[in-house]
Amino acid sequence: MNILDGKKTSEKILERIKKRVSAPLAGEVSRSDAGGAEIPHLVVILVGDNPASKVYVRNKQKAAEKVGIKSTVIEFDSNIKEQILLDKIIELNNDNTVTGILVQLPLPEQIDKNKVILTISPKKDVDGFHPENVGRLAIGMEPYFYPATPQGILMLLDEYNITLEGKHAVVIGRSNIVGKPMAQMLLKRNATVTICHSHTPNLDEIIKTADIVVSAVGKKIVRCKMVKKNSVVIDVGIFKDTNGKLTGDVDFDIVSPTCGFITPVPGGVGPMTIASLMYNASKVYR
Ligand code: NAP
Repeated sequence: MNILDGKKTSEKILERIKKRVSAPLAGEVSRSDAGGAEIPHLVVILVGDNPASKVYVRNKQKAAEKVGIKSTVIEFDSNIKEQILLDKIIELNNDNTVTGILVQLPLPEQIDKNKVILTISPKKDVDGFHPENVGRLAIGMEPYFYPATPQGILMLLDEYNITLEGKHAVVIGRSNIVGKPMAQMLLKRNATVTICHSHTPNLDEIIKTADIVVSAVGKKIVRCKMVKKNSVVIDVGIFKDTNGKLTGDVDFDIVSPTCGFITPVPGGVGPMTIASLMYNASKVYR
């Protein structure tokens, strides 16, 4: 069994992004063509004081600084009116010095998350959540941005030269941010994909047929000796167990002796998500 080391790999990728950002050409167009953007500039909007969101935003800001991407955090009170937030996003869409916009989720209940996602310009949508980016991925067009977590997982698999073509990939979870885009991206790479969710019967039997398992549930779901020999197991889940310790969806001790590759939690998908987001934030579109 080999560990897919997300921490080490993410550092390598961040180093590459840093070189790319400081090179004469930043992102997809030259800086002079980037409508005034000298360097990539990510604006992160934080609404309210959710402690977890604050930590995520701080980590994104730190990663941006590390690779030389300018970052600005705009904070709003939790009781902000929806229109004020939407107006700010429109202002940032029209600001040529801003190249990426990210609104940290979750949002307070008076704000319609979908309206927020729809308002961000697809060319600045570093999370890859805008329907234009989602639709482009679904119909086989290149999106401006892929969602960070599945893109980070593919970056990790690529670094370890794990081929996907012709493999049976089982994705557990069908969220818009992980499961569904992961399945689409694996399809794009010519894997045969099965998507499982809370209504899937015989999950254990399906997992046993997988060459690649991606579990994105948030519960201990891959527990028994249910993986195929030499399979690749990607654990996206991250939550606290009953003792308050961070854990993932996969029972690492039981599953790891059988599989060929596995991601640890923490230190697997988490750091790759940040590196992947920084890759997105380093892109500049007009
Ligand atoms: P989510 O929106 O809550 O989706 C969870 C998915 O799991 C749903 O599709 C649900 O099915 C499915 N599910 C629930 N119980 C199941 C069961 N018993 N059997 C099979 N499927 C089941 O979660 P998410 O946002 O995708 O996140 C999933 C996990 O990944 C969480 O622990 C989250 O913290 C973690 N995460 C980590 C990163 C990272 O960077 N490391 C990034 C994103 C998310 P239904 O659709 O039928 O309800």
